[in-house]
Amino acid sequence: MNQFNRRKFLITAGMAASSSIFLKGCLGNPPESISTSTTAIAKPIKLTPETTPETTQVKLGFTPIFESAPLIIAKEKGFFAKYGMTDAEVSKQANWGSARDNVEIGSAGGGIDGGQWQMPMPYLISEGLITKNGIKVPMYVLAMLNTQGNGIAIAKSQMGKNISLDMSKAKDYIQGLQKEGKKFRAAYTFPKVNQDFWIRYWLAAGGIDPDKDISLLTVPAAQTVANMKTGTMEGFSTGDPWPGRLIKDDIGFVAALTAQIWPSHPEEYLGMRADWVDKNPKATKAILKAVMDAQQWCDKPENRKELAQIVAKASYFNVPAATLEPMFMGKYVMGDGQPDIDDFNMAVRYWKTDRGSVSYPYKSLDLWFLTESVRWGFLPKTYLETSKNLIDKVNRSDLWKEAAKEAAIPATDIPTGDSRGVEKFFDGKVFDPENPKAYLDSLAIKKV
Ligand code: CA
Repeated sequence: MNQFNRRKFLITAGMAASSSIFLKGCLGNPPESISTSTTAIAKPIKLTPETTPETTQVKLGFTPIFESAPLIIAKEKGFFAKYGMTDAEVSKQANWGSARDNVEIGSAGGGIDGGQWQMPMPYLISEGLITKNGIKVPMYVLAMLNTQGNGIAIAKSQMGKNISLDMSKAKDYIQGLQKEGKKFRAAYTFPKVNQDFWIRYWLAAGGIDPDKDISLLTVPAAQTVANMKTGTMEGFSTGDPWPGRLIKDDIGFVAALTAQIWPSHPEEYLGMRADWVDKNPKATKAILKAVMDAQQWCDKPENRKELAQIVAKASYFNVPAATLEPMFMGKYVMGDGQPDIDDFNMAVRYWKTDRGSVSYPYKSLDLWFLTESVRWGFLPKTYLETSKNLIDKVNRSDLWKEAAKEAAIPATDIPTGDSRGVEKFFDGKVFDPENPKAYLDSLAIKKV
């Protein structure tokens, strides 16, 4: 029995044992549906006129990666229902392009009202930069869903070439490929957002120009492993569990975790159509409270086994829980001679880290995404001057704070300002939100 099958066997055996105990306790009663649930489902709270949502319905999109866990858990553990959103639906999106198209039409047209986004997608949609015919669909950024839990995976064919966190050691090799006309190909799941930024930052820190030395392409998250197998690309950047799947399938290794590139970095966000939020402010806060409850639940190490079992389901990730669980616990097999990682602080996190709140949508982090967009020529340089106004329009940290107070989140967990302060990267670079230009000036490789 290999490690994977053994683990699967142990988990299955454990589940069977707890199910039989459950059945024994219910002898004489009609059998209830047997679930993998080991913690209680949240009970509905008593709603007041101030907290009764304008609607019980909402449709939120998600992508089957660790980032979506708070939305899935808010549904599965009863947190949406707890706050009156009894008909909240979470809807699996085929890829990021579909999520964008679906939010553009809204749930009334068969799409979605909002959901999980890479950054700065809500900004690009609000500005009409990635929508059909350039239509502006105003959106609000409401909360950050997670930090960390993403990685850069490399095909087995690239082993022994020093491809790791510090790419300066692989610079000659990568540039050599380019000179031979065999450019290294790296994939992201959607252009000009998180995954693209992580690849670019990582390469550029090692002196490799992502626009000249390699070629970049788009592959949907769920298809990355299949495409790596068939040799479509040599590297990809996406959310867990896809980089880890590569190790299981023995087709590659993980070169770097985003937790190494930028500890407690901003990752994906809850964003919704502005018209939906403006029409349903109490329902929006109910959704926020449910997501906050779910984030706290997800962040408890003792809940992560159950979390893995819930998101493993076919309707969610459709990946065995045994594959997911080690990554949820911060256990990463890196491969190609790098030491393995076993540290919960390196895992995906949902509520709090040593940098403070994960959930709170710091405006200073939105500013980094817009600044990085200027760095790579995705947005015109004028955005350096206009970003502040745009962020004030799109980022609704005010709603987050109101919801947090209603949910009786302790004051120590509610940030008082919109800046998380100075950000530090693995290569020693610094982003001071008070001076984004100084950050851009400090970078050797850029398009601005
Ligand atoms: Ca991601």
